[in-house]
Amino acid sequence: MNIAVFPGSFDPITTGHVDIVRRALPLFDKIIVAVGVNNQKQALFSLEKRLDWLRDVFREMPKVEISYFEGLTVKFCEQQNARFLIRGLRNASDFDYEKTISQLNTIIGNNVETIFLISQPEYSHISSTIVREIIKGKGNVAPFVPAIISDDLNKNY
Ligand code: ADP
Repeated sequence: MNIAVFPGSFDPITTGHVDIVRRALPLFDKIIVAVGVNNQKQALFSLEKRLDWLRDVFREMPKVEISYFEGLTVKFCEQQNARFLIRGLRNASDFDYEKTISQLNTIIGNNVETIFLISQPEYSHISSTIVREIIKGKGNVAPFVPAIISDDLNKNY
């Protein structure tokens, strides 16, 4: 079984993330979308909220599982029997950063291979960082996040 992990902060998940998962689906039997818990990085949304949103967004995709992990991504892959990591690339700075991480993961991981998907042009300007700034400024994030999330944000924040 070909299992892949799509790790991220998903603070919050955006339409750019969803597009990467959708396009990766035909390549794998199972994709585990996993929130990496990083205690050094203060998230805007709680882990529970981010996991709830992920579950809602991927409810109709039976091959997608939602999870979270602390510590090294490659250790989590090992625990899940996942041989593949999925990452999205929006631009050259994503590439520079991801290249190093991927090379390190090849060394410290047990045969873990990172598969990169280049962002579609209509999503390459979207980042969770920008979405968080818009939320803090009370702007409209509907163009950047799944409808289920913008509805929740409009009602509850
Ligand atoms: P991290 O903190 O690990 O970068 P993110 O949640 O910001 O977590 O991103 C997770 C993954 O999704 C990364 O590989 C990132 O490059 C990718 N990604 C984020 N936004 C987009 C987008 N708009 N299009 C394609 N890939 C994206």
